[in-house]
Amino acid sequence: MKDGTKSAEPVGLVCRRCGCRHFFVTHTEPIKDGAVRRRRVCRHCGAKYVSLETLTGDPAWSQFVRKKDGADGP
Ligand SMILES: [Zn+2]
Repeated sequence: MKDGTKSAEPVGLVCRRCGCRHFFVTHTEPIKDGAVRRRRVCRHCGAKYVSLETLTGDPAWSQFVRKKDGADGP
């Protein structure tokens, strides 16, 4: 039985508010060294997160930070 990898979303990305794994990407911002910052909004509860993805080292989320509604800091 082979499944569990059919989703394009990186493993480990789970909404800390409602526990779902589905997010809208609202913004993608290249940073440097191949790193990309993406802003995501939970499809279910609307919680906002910012992820920092790097090509070097860990291919998954290097950071997964919850943002308060309206917060738009660096
Ligand atoms: Zn949620």
